[in-house]
Amino acid sequence: MRFWSWLRGEPRCEYYYRKRLEDIDYQIGHDTPRDQIKNWLNEYNEEETLGFAILQRQRRLENEKQTAGAQQQQQQFRRRRCKQCQYQKEMCSACHEAMQTEDVPPPYLNRSPEDLERDLAKLLEEFSKNRTRLGAIRQKLLDSRSLCAKRAMIPRWYRNDAGRTFKWVEDRRKCADRGGCCGRTCGCCEEVLLEYQRPKFWDSGKVRFKVHGHCTAECACCIQFWGFYNPHPALPAMCS
Ligand SMILES: [Zn+2]
Ligand SMILES: [Zn+2]
Ligand SMILES: [Zn+2]
Ligand SMILES: [Zn+2]
Repeated sequence: MRFWSWLRGEPRCEYYYRKRLEDIDYQIGHDTPRDQIKNWLNEYNEEETLGFAILQRQRRLENEKQTAGAQQQQQQFRRRRCKQCQYQKEMCSACHEAMQTEDVPPPYLNRSPEDLERDLAKLLEEFSKNRTRLGAIRQKLLDSRSLCAKRAMIPRWYRNDAGRTFKWVEDRRKCADRGGCCGRTCGCCEEVLLEYQRPKFWDSGKVRFKVHGHCTAECACCIQFWGFYNPHPALPAMCS
């Protein structure tokens, strides 16, 4: 790291990242990627975004399950208390009235915690398939030894001082322009979507690997903000 750069107080991570980009851009020169590489890169981007969508839907369903579970418990509790409607499906008029005056939110009509649990299990399977496909495309890109492919991956390999990839940093504006959470103050995109132990490349140690993403059709905060929900096209409409 050059002395003047350090003196100016430039963040270290950013310095090394910029340097790596400059080097590879110089190597690439005016080369353009082959069509095959372009296709793989598009595939990779789509698969990566689908992964974010799955994780965001997962988070939303987890929250819904919790709420639905709490409501179910509340209802069961009410039913237990009353001798009159204990063994009946419907609440008796006294309980019905009590529930209305206590201003309890209406129960979920179609989605029980069990339904949500089933959806979550399916979602986990989708995520596993998504990871496998993503890994396969990544391998194809690396095996091609294409500099353009490498250029596209570098922002995903380098992280800033806050521990987020430069790919994430650079996509913030796109997210904001699309109407995502980066355009508001909620800070949803800053949250970790996925975290796991990842072995280091050189020694036997492991690091806590964190994945951050940007808003997709499945972001709960965006759905609430915009007031509509169009499921991600590649995800089965399992939760409608
Ligand atoms: Zn009752
Ligand atoms: Zn969002
Ligand atoms: Zn948000
Ligand atoms: Zn964002």
